[in-house]
Amino acid sequence: MLGEATVEELRQGVRGDIVTPDDPAYDAAARIWNGMHDGHRPAVIVRCAGAGDVIAAVGFARSNDLAIAVRGGAHSIAGSSTCDDGIVIDLSALRYVHVDPDRRRAYVGGGAVWADVDHETQAHGLATTGGMVSTTGVAGFTLGGGIGWLMRKHGLACDNLVAATVVTADGRVVHASESEHAELLWALRGGGGNFGVVTQFELAVHPVGPTVYAGPIFYSAEHGAKLLRLFRDWSAHTPDDITALLNLTTAPPLPVIPEAWHGRKVVAFIAVSAGPDDDAEQRLRPFRDAAEPVADLLGPTPYIAMQTLVDPLWQKGIHAYFKAANLARIDDELIEHLCELHVSGPGPQCEIHIHQMGGAVARVPEEASAFPDRSMPFVLNAVTGWQDPDLTAAHVDWARTVIAAASSISTGRAYVNFLGDADAARSSYGAGKYARLASLKSQYDPTNCFRLNQNIEPSR
Ligand SMILES: Cc1cc2nc3c(=O)[nH]c(=O)nc-3n(C[C@H](O)[C@H](O)[C@H](O)COP(=O)(O)OP(=O)(O)OC[C@H]3O[C@@H](n4cnc5c(N)ncnc54)[C@H](O)[C@@H]3O)c2cc1C
Repeated sequence: MLGEATVEELRQGVRGDIVTPDDPAYDAAARIWNGMHDGHRPAVIVRCAGAGDVIAAVGFARSNDLAIAVRGGAHSIAGSSTCDDGIVIDLSALRYVHVDPDRRRAYVGGGAVWADVDHETQAHGLATTGGMVSTTGVAGFTLGGGIGWLMRKHGLACDNLVAATVVTADGRVVHASESEHAELLWALRGGGGNFGVVTQFELAVHPVGPTVYAGPIFYSAEHGAKLLRLFRDWSAHTPDDITALLNLTTAPPLPVIPEAWHGRKVVAFIAVSAGPDDDAEQRLRPFRDAAEPVADLLGPTPYIAMQTLVDPLWQKGIHAYFKAANLARIDDELIEHLCELHVSGPGPQCEIHIHQMGGAVARVPEEASAFPDRSMPFVLNAVTGWQDPDLTAAHVDWARTVIAAASSISTGRAYVNFLGDADAARSSYGAGKYARLASLKSQYDPTNCFRLNQNIEPSR
């Protein structure tokens, strides 16, 4: 524990709030979204009011030899945005979003969440690729890659990262763009929180909405294999306007789903089209014709409603574990395994997500950003949530089994933001990209100050 005099020294150097274990607000301030990581006890939490506070916090951590956890929206699945006995650099006071509609840019504070961005950008009829749950932070999401409903038309979130203001490990404020610290920008586009604390993101935004042709169709789980085969074949020929996901899940107790189906295993096909409604209706018709739906909610929908659709199911405090793999293809053997695993999931929030990739994501050259594996056609994500800590092992084991079932057709890479274990950087990025990231890490963080993440170790 830090002495009062030491903390006082920090207090003198920052404008924002400082929370220590003797503060009544501490327990709530220490908690992150994932209840699986409750109980960690940082020595101090600094709620930074700006880049000056971040510089002070980084300097304080270094001179007191404290581990640093950096927190944006606090949705890290692996629990990287908290720590024991170290310092949490919490950006949650920096939630501003300024939109320049003429330049099609949004300037976003390092602690903003996607609800903030969608609210302000939609005021101008604009949007950018953001999270499928609106409470997710812009920071961790964008720095890791950012898979969202607009990605096949407008790229991943990291592809829309035009520039960033970054506090580096040596306490400098640098501006990374195509013309300054361009290699740092390359690393921030997928390399995670390894290179510094981002206090501001400059994001490209695009005309979207206010309504899009979007929503889920729910079917009985008995149609799982047929729908997976349709999804696989249809995905290869979809225009970039449409981004879709197949989710093997359990019907949530929502009024839009017939009550008799609540709690039963279902398949949800979910799509968003950022193009003309008529075209979307026609392109998505094969899913309307595939099987009798339990509920068909696909149609013109406010973009904001789509962005918040599943928020109630994924609230702060739930215990959660994800594990993912990039798929080179989907074969019949995997389809059979996934259908079996779907019905044997240990709880109602055991979901198998298959994201349709391609489109604008695949058009960015592989070497243009740190994000690995752009040519993968699908991302498989085993998503689990539960409340009772006694159910942890069953859920984690199930998620690992789902991903193991795909090992023979995985590309060997994985999307770092969908990993509940924080030790997967080398395999996720692959040797070539990892080496380039490690070399940049040596330049920007040679002593690995920012190591609570999918860590890239400095090469020197
Ligand atoms: C409910 C839920 C839904 C999700 N949906 C999606 C989805 O649709 N698509 C998708 O791609 N991912 C999704 N994810 C995964 C999500 O992208 C990651 O969990 C991401 O890390 C969340 O960012 P955050 O800022 O909220 O996290 P935090 O926990 O705050 O941070 C995670 C890590 O990011 C880094 N970091 C955070 N802030 C900063 C900063 N300002 N500067 C530098 N580094 C920083 C740190 O290394 C930190 O450990 C979801 C996660 C959850 C829990």
